[in-house]
Amino acid sequence: MIKFSLSCENSHVFESWFESNNAFDTLYSKGLLTCPMCNSTQVGKNIMSPNIVAKLNPSKEESKPQENDKKIDLQKPLSKYEEALQTLKQEVEKNSEYVGKDFVEQARMMFQSETKQRSIHGEASIKEAKELVEEGIPVVPLPWPSISNTN
Ligand SMILES: [Zn+2]
Repeated sequence: MIKFSLSCENSHVFESWFESNNAFDTLYSKGLLTCPMCNSTQVGKNIMSPNIVAKLNPSKEESKPQENDKKIDLQKPLSKYEEALQTLKQEVEKNSEYVGKDFVEQARMMFQSETKQRSIHGEASIKEAKELVEEGIPVVPLPWPSISNTN
């Protein structure tokens, strides 16, 4: 037995089993093939369809578990990330001085050894932070929007 994907003049696509390729040719030449949807006898082999079906089916099966994996992967590192962020924030607040808006000025002064070296954190705009980096001052952006004043 051999399965062919067939289509009629009205673009109906359907599958049919035949004993052999020759059996199909015989039925085809006698006009005995009919579309199950519109009964048209203008029916021919649909050569493209089996390839499309073969390609579509495995990708559908693959995409489902991938979506599930992504959901799991996203949830676990997120809570760990938040945990790490919280720890980092506490460490920074414990071990460095909050200088608020003076951060840029303080960082420059420390870099030029005008004031004693210490760890500070504070607020700087992206432009200001970029300027510090360009001047060779080691600044690290903190991964949270702003730090509450501990004073
Ligand atoms: Zn049809």
